[in-house]
Amino acid sequence: MTMNFQPILGAEHKRPLLIAGPCSAETEEQVLQTARELAPQGIDLFRAGIWKPRTRPGEFEGIGTPGLAWLRRVKEETGLRTTTEVANTQHVFEALKYGIDVLWIGARTTVNPFSVQEVADALAGVDIPVLIKNPVNPDLKLWIGAIERVYKAGIRRIAVIHRGFSHHGETRYRNVPRWQIPIELKRLFPDLPILCDNSHICGRRDTLQAVAQQALDFNYDGLMTEVHPTPDAAWSDAAQQITPAQYGLLTQQLHFRESGAEDPAFLQNIDHLRHQIDDIDEELFQMLAQRMKLAQGIGEYKKRNNIAIVQPARWNEIVERATAKARTQGLSDDFVEMVLRAIHEESIKQQSKVLHGEAV
Ligand code: PEP
Ligand code: MN
Repeated sequence: MTMNFQPILGAEHKRPLLIAGPCSAETEEQVLQTARELAPQGIDLFRAGIWKPRTRPGEFEGIGTPGLAWLRRVKEETGLRTTTEVANTQHVFEALKYGIDVLWIGARTTVNPFSVQEVADALAGVDIPVLIKNPVNPDLKLWIGAIERVYKAGIRRIAVIHRGFSHHGETRYRNVPRWQIPIELKRLFPDLPILCDNSHICGRRDTLQAVAQQALDFNYDGLMTEVHPTPDAAWSDAAQQITPAQYGLLTQQLHFRESGAEDPAFLQNIDHLRHQIDDIDEELFQMLAQRMKLAQGIGEYKKRNNIAIVQPARWNEIVERATAKARTQGLSDDFVEMVLRAIHEESIKQQSKVLHGEAV
């Protein structure tokens, strides 16, 4: 479907668009203090979660409607426009009643077409900008589907927020960026503004700067960052929040790029390919480490049962299965055998250590 988007904060608005504020509204004082310290820094929108979609019940699930009055005060006192997450009809109605300026749909809502449709239906006939975060799973179609549902409700001021994708196993990110997905979205919809939520991608403070810069280098239109007056004491997402002063430093140190969305550098930038390679290498070595742990377990078993470490029949079976499978994916037999041999040698070494009672 063809979609024509309008700028979310007016055509004259400068880029990049900066959104900052706490993960959650906790107390009136915390909300107002953050806003007072952020307002002089020239941010464009003040964020605070009022209803929080938490992974496990029992975690802080948001202050609810009373927090909306605090956001109204933020606007009255500082002039900052405000934004909050909505996930159902009641959230939309309450947020509109309190004059919230911009709504966002969270990653755990974007995954569910029923919920997105419910929010879209609640928005029919309302003229308000809506930001749509990527779904937690790396599914571009689902993200586009959410954009279409909101668009069909008559909303034209739409932007998307890239907050990374959930991932099994350890990585240096809380949510892996998979830059190629938002970049593909931008290729399909060049006038759809895209913002980077570096806080939820990183999950920690020390990488916020690098990820924000990466997004700007990819020609993103802005950033959403979590800021809290006392981050360590935050009721949600403590590890990734920074103080207003730290936020000031972060934005001062960013290099803003001038190029437009049609800049070919955006699409041809090899950095995003390099990033993907780095992510895959990280996964590869984690999986190899896991494989070695399993081999050590087998080593223990062989030791208890007095079985020889090298089992040629099993080895042949592994090589045959892997080469056949890899061949269908365009990998040569030689290459696969070489990789497997290196892995096998390392497992044998580790199993021998187990057999001889050495620490592995
Ligand atoms: C948030 O912005 O605090 C939030 C809950 O984010 P996400 O939807 O990206 O998980
Ligand atoms: Mn958060």
